[in-house]
Amino acid sequence: MSWYTRIGLEVHAQLATRSKLFCACATDWDAPPNTRTCAVCTGQPGSLPLLNAAAVELAVRAGVALGARVHQRSRFARKHYHYVDLPKAYQITQWDEPLCSGGALPLAGGGQALFERIHLEEDAGRSVHTAEATRIDLNRAGLALIEIVSLPTLESAEEALDCLRSLRELLRWNGISRAEMEKGELRCDVNVSVTRDPELLGTKVEIKNLNSFRHVAMAIEHEQARQIALLEAGGTVEPETRRLVAETGRTEAMRGKEETADYRYLLEPDLPPLRLGAGEIERQRGFLPEPPASRRERFMREWGLSPGEAQELTRDRERAEWFEGVVRSGAAPRSAAKWITNELAAALADDSLPARGFDQLPCTPRELAALLALVEEGGLARHAARRILAHLVREGGDPARVAHQLGLDRKGNDDEIEAACREALSERPDAARAYREGNRRAIGALIGAARARGGEHLDPRDLRRTLARLLEGEDNPQP
Ligand SMILES: [Zn+2]
Repeated sequence: MSWYTRIGLEVHAQLATRSKLFCACATDWDAPPNTRTCAVCTGQPGSLPLLNAAAVELAVRAGVALGARVHQRSRFARKHYHYVDLPKAYQITQWDEPLCSGGALPLAGGGQALFERIHLEEDAGRSVHTAEATRIDLNRAGLALIEIVSLPTLESAEEALDCLRSLRELLRWNGISRAEMEKGELRCDVNVSVTRDPELLGTKVEIKNLNSFRHVAMAIEHEQARQIALLEAGGTVEPETRRLVAETGRTEAMRGKEETADYRYLLEPDLPPLRLGAGEIERQRGFLPEPPASRRERFMREWGLSPGEAQELTRDRERAEWFEGVVRSGAAPRSAAKWITNELAAALADDSLPARGFDQLPCTPRELAALLALVEEGGLARHAARRILAHLVREGGDPARVAHQLGLDRKGNDDEIEAACREALSERPDAARAYREGNRRAIGALIGAARARGGEHLDPRDLRRTLARLLEGEDNPQP
């Protein structure tokens, strides 16, 4: 008889707000420790929480994006537990009346993930362990999170990863969360159970605080194997909370699974129920851009892009919109796609440039379209266009004017090319001799010398042709 695995995810995503959930403190938590704190988020007596409307809007947007029921009334509760990085000794979360119920997400591998609920809650602080001491940084305390709880219907580590990837894409694409796992903006608890009867759930074991895809896969695979071995040896699985030890790829027990009663949930007396009008919920639907999958499909169907190009150009929404902007400015879609995925990507790979999103590039889509027009209609050489692009990604500008500034707007007439080549030959007799003796690669040095003499605007292909004619032809200038 075979075993069936059932996996559920609890995903915590940090909402992309400028201030925390219940106070005005800034959300750049990696600032110096304890500099983004106030009386509210450090739990001083007498301080009162005030709900951040922007966080509510993003949480509602997550709900509509996942097709969940967003409730017009929800409320906050205190979840009590004691830990050094939680000065209030409780976390404000939502319990019996969450913001959203239900929801589903299509999986890349087919089928869909189903969700139970989405609720708002605040983050805890951070314990920083060093050799000498454990220090507490409360910059994270009170950050706005949503917890997205899936039903335990995922059946393998691959399906769980598929769900997590799709969820991360959806959160980023819709501007709900930056969802960078390495920064703790997306964290995941996983519950795993195994059963021989596909109609029944086995005993659930929860693995807490997984912050990379690799760790999620490791934890599920180890837990699945551990539970099956235990049951086959006649043992029983304890309902408990475990943690992953990444070095060994194994999970180990942390504590028995808390029951709801252990948290002594109480309604939050300092916050009224959260009430939303139907219009406010619908308004968030209006902010949802075309989803990535349908955009990929449209790029291929309408504009003839390859699946690889469509995938690359929808890596994030800013990139997809930038690309569409280039096409709207008059560039041919396939040529725009090739320039963005090849030449622009190469220009941006320069280490001296700051890493930034497409929405922050100094170069506008219109400028790239103008550059492509110069190449395709104005006869601008490709190497010259590349140099202009390297300039545009630093400071932007009108490509025609940049070409003029860099002296790249002339193609070079035949006389000019020939003069530069003759100068190169007299300057580098060694390279000319090497070429005539059969070392054809020596022409590279001559092309370099000709461009240094005649200007960067000269096309290396013209120079190569002319140099070869001069070196091999009757009008050979003897050094
Ligand atoms: Zn604060």
